[in-house]
Parts: sequence; C-alpha cells; structure tokens
Amino acid sequence: MTHPAQPKASHFINGEYVEDTSGTPIPVIYAATGEQIATVYAATPAIVEQALSTAKEAQKAWAKMTGTERGRILRRAADIMRERNHELSVLETYDTGKPLQETLVADATSGADALEYFGGLAGSLTGEHIPMGEDWVYTVREALGLCVGIGAWNYPTQIACWKGAPALACGNSMVFKPSETTPLCALKVAEILHEAGAPAGIYNVIQGMGEVGGALVTDPRVDKVSLTGSVPTGKKVYAAAAEGMKHVTMELGGKSPLIIFDDADVENAVGGAINGNFYSSGQVCSNGTRVFVQKGIKEKFLARLAERTGAAVLGDPQDEATSFGPMVSENQMNIVLGYIEKGKEEGARLVCGGNRADMPGFFVEPTVFADVTDGMTIAREEIFGPVMSVLDFDTEEEVIARANDTEFGLSAGVFTNDFSRAHRVIGQLEAGSCFINSYNDAPVEAPFGGVKASGVGRENSKEAIKHFSQVKSVYVRMGDVEAAF
Ligand code: NDP
Repeated sequence: MTHPAQPKASHFINGEYVEDTSGTPIPVIYAATGEQIATVYAATPAIVEQALSTAKEAQKAWAKMTGTERGRILRRAADIMRERNHELSVLETYDTGKPLQETLVADATSGADALEYFGGLAGSLTGEHIPMGEDWVYTVREALGLCVGIGAWNYPTQIACWKGAPALACGNSMVFKPSETTPLCALKVAEILHEAGAPAGIYNVIQGMGEVGGALVTDPRVDKVSLTGSVPTGKKVYAAAAEGMKHVTMELGGKSPLIIFDDADVENAVGGAINGNFYSSGQVCSNGTRVFVQKGIKEKFLARLAERTGAAVLGDPQDEATSFGPMVSENQMNIVLGYIEKGKEEGARLVCGGNRADMPGFFVEPTVFADVTDGMTIAREEIFGPVMSVLDFDTEEEVIARANDTEFGLSAGVFTNDFSRAHRVIGQLEAGSCFINSYNDAPVEAPFGGVKASGVGRENSKEAIKHFSQVKSVYVRMGDVEAAF
C-alpha cells in the first residue's frame, strides 16, 4: 500500500503536480525507522525548463496586481495552512523525523505566520516623494522578477514559506528546490498557495540534488537566489549568482556562542542551552553550541543540565509524548557520531549522552561535553546535531574575544541579571540574530540572518522586503532643461 507521505507527483509547476520518472529517483527515508516511505524523481532538464519558463511568464501579471490583491491570497494561504496544521505537521515529521510535539507548533504555524505577515505588508509597499524645489523625485519599489529558493533539510515547510511569502508579496515569482533529503513539504506549500488563489506558475517546486540547484542559479532568466544551507554550498552558490550579477540572500551555518554569567538564573540558562542545542535534535543553524559558562556557576549549571537532559523522551516522533527525535538521515547521524568521537579523543569531558541510541532509526543521544577548549574540533566546526560544548570563562572581556573568534556570525546569546552588562556584551558580539535571557526565538516580525561567513541579507521582518525588491527613482523636472550646448 502507498504510504500516506507519498506525494501525488514529484514537482509542482504551473499550478499542478507534474511527474517525470526519467529523472534520478530520490528515496524518501523516514528517519525514525530507516524505512523508505516515498519516492520522488529529480528534475530533468525539461522539468527545469518548464518551471523557469512558466515562472518567468507568470510573474509579469502577478506584479501588475495590487499589493492588496496579492496579500489577500497569501493571507488566505495562511488560513488554509493553520486549518490543516495537524496533517501538515504529520507530514513534516515524516519528512524530517522531528517530533510531532515540535512540528505541531513550529513548522506549518511558522510558515503561516510568514504568509500572514507578508500578506499584510504587501499592500503597504510604497515609494517616497523627495521634493527638489520645484522638481521632485519619486521612488517605486519594484519586484526583482524570477526568484529561486533553495532549502536545507531541517525546516522544509518553514524555509519554503520564509522565502516564498516575501518574494510573492513583492510581486516576484518563485521556483523552489527543497533539499533532496526532505522533498515532501514544499509541495504542500505550493498546493496551498494555488488553492488560495495564486495564479498558475507563481510558486513552483522542483526536486533534485545540487546539480538542479546549480542549473537554477546559473540560468540568465533568474534575478535572485535565496539559499538556506551550509557555508561551503553558500560560497559556491554566491559565486555562481555573481556571474549573472543576481541578487542573493544567504542563510548559512553557525557555531554560535551562548554566554552564561554567574549571576544568571540557572534554570532559565539551562532552558536556553537546551532550546539552543537540542531542539530539532540540534539541527538548527542558529544553535548556541559553544556554551560559555562563568566558573562560579559551572558545576551547578552542569548538574541541572544533565538532570534536565536526562528527561528527554526519545521515541516514535509521531507520538506527541516524544520530545527528542532522530537525525534527519543516516549520513547526518554518522557525521554527528564522528564529532562525538573527536570530542572524546581530544579530551573533552563527557557529561551525558555520547552514543547512538539503542533503537531503530537514526537517533543520537543528547550529548553534553564539559571542559571544552577553544581549539577542539567540536568547538570550532558546525556539527548540526545534539552536541553541546560547555567552555569555562573568567571575565567579560575574555569571553567576548573568545566568542568572536570564529569565521561564523549567525547568532549569540547572553544570560545575566545585569542588564547593562547584557547590552554591553551583545553590542560587541559579531552576530546577526541575538538573544538576551532567551535563545532561538525566531518570530517573523524580527530580522533573521548572519554576519561574517554565516550569510548575506536577512529573512523575515520588513528587512526581507528590501531583499526581494528594488527601488527605481524617477526625477521629474517642471521647468526647462539647461544644457551646455
Ligand atoms: P547544504 O549546503 O548541503 O544544501 C543546501 C541546499 O543547497 C540543498 O537543497 C542542496 O541540495 C543545495 N545545493 C547543494 N549544492 C548546490 C549547488 N552547487 N548549487 C545549488 N544548490 C546546491 O545544506 P544542508 O541541506 O545539509 O543543511 C544544513 C546546513 O544548512 C547547515 O550548515 C545549517 O547551518 C544551514 N542552515 C542555515 C539556516 C539559516 O537560516 N542560516 C537554517 C537552516 C540550515 P541537495 O541537498 O539536494 O544536494
């Protein structure tokens, strides 16, 4: 019998599901059991062509609609997503392995927030009037044209919406390529947008590995590329986009610092460290994986952390009682286990976890290392799994310098009850998305993105509008034109 996760077809183009089984088959594996639950086929050159030409053509009429009309469609799509939250969350769990306890509140709901927020903004995208004496300049905020979205595997619904909603609000069309590891959810986003009234061809989804992404990024009809992925992929995609002078948004990886001063509320700091390391089994780009703890509260912090981490419930992700799911794939599990071995070899102290869980699927126990030093591999490289490194520090000045000593700059957090210190420290941290006495909140109203190697541009908030539109300025002269001859 066909599994309920099997989509109607691999691609969604021009308002309908499209299949082409001559593409490379991509098996969809449920991470909690290792079973194959669906198959999709990578886009062939003919499918890539169909998606791009359709999106290019459809964009012109879409951009001519009023922002209010476009926004109404996005807001209707948000309502449909909320009505179907349960069904979409079950699918997200099959696609990624993340527990239903999380997907019910973090995926389709976050996607719906983006559709609602950018739907609301669409009618307010106006230009400026700049008086120049008798003359004036006016500006027009115009769509970029055809945008390509390329997603990572950790938040397939959210990423499809975080890119699609601002793109469509501004009058662009989109071709979205999900990660080959999680190809299912973006198809539902496309289906819902069209059910809500988006004209055919405005939002298309095609499957494939890096080479399909490469074909999209290098096509001369594409005006903008928005990627969520790793730094090495980001560098390749950015370079390819630069060849065609395309706009880019790069949401890349991190190795973010979470700094806990000894006056912090220990329970909240432990909660922040858990949210910043073990949510989605650690597969979150903004995670605070270098947890700097001031020496005065180190042992108290570690004791409560180990106790609370021990309460994680590993199990069937479709059971709402499960609070900790598997790694997305066997490959990712092996990468994470490799880093855990490195941590042990390089002399970090294992506080809890440290093994593959003894159950089917790709589960790795939530793992905490203490006595980690700055040069250790687990403190330098992004692991993208449930491995927390706890490092000690003495002074504010020292911890700021150590926190910034990385190529990455996505997020940073500070826990302290001294608010002037909190602002002083955050002000000096090289990161795009920061937290004080919290960690990993990502509301659509707030800009999200990194500095340094962690990325270029911002998603969410009004900032995202700037990255999916461009400004035309028009000088209007009322008098005669003076010329030298
Ligand atoms: P990858 O960088 O491996 O892949 C990202 C996407 O790019 C995938 O869809 C991939 O396709 C595609 N791709 C790969 N090569 C190319 C290419 N040459 N041209 C165009 N597209 C290409 O990332 P992962 O999927 O492994 O995701 C994990 C990474 O994503 C982590 O580093 C994480 O930090 C980052 N991330 C960043 C976020 C942020 O907002 N800053 C949020 C979430 C994750 P395929 O996989 O099918 O080969």
